[in-house]
Amino acid sequence: MSLPDPSDAPVPATAIARPGPPALMARLRKAKHRVVVLGGGFAGVYTARHLSELLGSRTDVHVELLSEENYFVFQPLLPEVAAGGVSPTHVVNPVREMVPRVQFRWSKVQRIDIAAKVVYATQGEGKELVAVPYDHLVFALGKVSNFSSMPGVQEHALAMKDLSDAFKLRNHVYRCLELADVEDAPAEKAALLTFVVAGGGFSGVETIGELSEMLHKVKKNFKNIEARELRLVLVHSRDTLLPEMPAALGKAAMEILQQRGVEIIVNARTKAASRYAVYLSTGARLETRTFICTVGNAPNPICKDALATGAFVEGKSGGRGIGVFQTDLHLQCTGQTHYWAVGDCAGVPMPGKPDEICPATAQFAIRQGKVAAENILAAIDNRPERRREFSFKGLGTLASLGNRSAVADMMGVQLKGFVAWFAWRTIYLSKLPGMIRRLRVTVDWTLDLFFPRDITQLQPDESPQLRVEHYEPGEVIIARDEIGRELFVIQQGEVEVKEPDGTLVATLKDGEVFGEKALLTDAPRTAHVVAKTPVDVLVMTRAGFKALVGQLQPLDDYFTGLMKQRYPQLVPDDTRVTALVGTAKS
Ligand SMILES: Cc1cc2nc3c(=O)[nH]c(=O)nc-3n(C[C@H](O)[C@H](O)[C@H](O)COP(=O)(O)OP(=O)(O)OC[C@H]3O[C@@H](n4cnc5c(N)ncnc54)[C@H](O)[C@@H]3O)c2cc1C
Repeated sequence: MSLPDPSDAPVPATAIARPGPPALMARLRKAKHRVVVLGGGFAGVYTARHLSELLGSRTDVHVELLSEENYFVFQPLLPEVAAGGVSPTHVVNPVREMVPRVQFRWSKVQRIDIAAKVVYATQGEGKELVAVPYDHLVFALGKVSNFSSMPGVQEHALAMKDLSDAFKLRNHVYRCLELADVEDAPAEKAALLTFVVAGGGFSGVETIGELSEMLHKVKKNFKNIEARELRLVLVHSRDTLLPEMPAALGKAAMEILQQRGVEIIVNARTKAASRYAVYLSTGARLETRTFICTVGNAPNPICKDALATGAFVEGKSGGRGIGVFQTDLHLQCTGQTHYWAVGDCAGVPMPGKPDEICPATAQFAIRQGKVAAENILAAIDNRPERRREFSFKGLGTLASLGNRSAVADMMGVQLKGFVAWFAWRTIYLSKLPGMIRRLRVTVDWTLDLFFPRDITQLQPDESPQLRVEHYEPGEVIIARDEIGRELFVIQQGEVEVKEPDGTLVATLKDGEVFGEKALLTDAPRTAHVVAKTPVDVLVMTRAGFKALVGQLQPLDDYFTGLMKQRYPQLVPDDTRVTALVGTAKS
């Protein structure tokens, strides 16, 4: 879906600013001030857009926006994309179209040299490092998903943050339905039809609501799946959903979802996840092939690094540092005159409530961007009297629950059900940037009212050639009789190799290899391999093995020796193992 990701190339201590195309250089020569905005989300785009509008035809200020995607994502509609109600391309806008007067640079920010006032970023598929100097720098990098505190979640959960997450989820759900429709083992069918979402905030609640609507709409296409076999589970760490809304609406959302058959597990946290299940703090184990994790928002690494320099003050919530830039009401980073922060990566005091910070929502990000733009211009022009304080207190909150129902708190008026859903749709439609996108989403919504959803599974589930999987004790990593196609290397933990009758053949630990016979033959596996402790394994497909091991002589020597020792009849004396892998079927 996205352009190739600029890689995380290591950043040398210095990089020379490349001259750039002549037209850009000519504009830069005219400019006395350089404003660089980092991030192409709500906060960054609206800052850059408003600033360029305020500047009009002025050429003394150059505005440049850096973002790792060339599109802006309207995140509130992502759950609908995941549920197939709205087309993926209808909730994104090219950043260039949104900020036509701004220099856009598709690049990944790597680090900021605060002393030299230079941003280092990689562009061109991550191969080129560029230095982008600035006079004023705006942090609008948002937050990132980080599941590292929960073993296995990084490897096995789907997120709900970006367009690719929504797209992946949609196709994954159809994959599960396709497999469940022809599955004869009841336990596997049940796991394929169990959908677990962690997090009872906006994205978790909206995701499970939309998913429930989608599953019930499309199930008629799958003749061997009955409605009662679909299990949707929402896991939430508190006792009421939607903590950002009044408690009565959180309770109403819970009732609406439960009436629709969604199981809600409250006061429970995700502890770990594996290929087979989600493990909760309560000790419960939810067998599933679909786990969507909407918790685990973490500071953007670039913001974290900048804060670690000591040049900025970290914003706090509930007395605890939360990895955001503390700002004043002018959106200026505390103690700095040329640094600004907006959106989810900013800790902006809540107007009228100085002990609180503004919520991390799009409505605040957009308005902070506009105020920051005005104040940056006032700073550039040395006109302090033109500075404006951020005074927005919020218009209210809305959460869609799918199936033409929602909850809404608008200016103190609490709504639920169809009226709230109608308000939700009307408001979000009006907020979508650009008339064309609005029209397209309106068409999607109208078609969805009268026609069935498209159940095409657009993206075949391609497992990466090299990946990490996590297993909890007792879980089967290799099942006897399945056709092996992958090799496993234990990263940490222990596994047991067992005969079908349960006799222990061997215990293997960190650094040891199993399943290697599958590299050479399509013969079914002859033993079970079961996790003895929590274990992380590196899984290599045949193609991944050949690409990696074939290029590294010491690894080839090691595996050739190992295979000759274990399977002398399969590896002739003068043959390298990588040569034989090429002859296996897939
Ligand atoms: C599923 C979901 C539903 C939501 N629903 C609502 C809702 O109904 N109402 C509401 O008000 N809010 C909602 N939100 C929250 C809202 O979307 C966020 O508060 C908002 O997106 C914050 O904007 P931002 O610009 O600060 O961050 P983001 O939108 O996260 O943008 C950050 C930008 O920085 C870029 N970036 C990050 N790191 C780098 C780097 N190293 N180099 C270059 N670029 C980088 C990213 O690519 C991105 O363009 C929802 C969020 C989600 C995930």
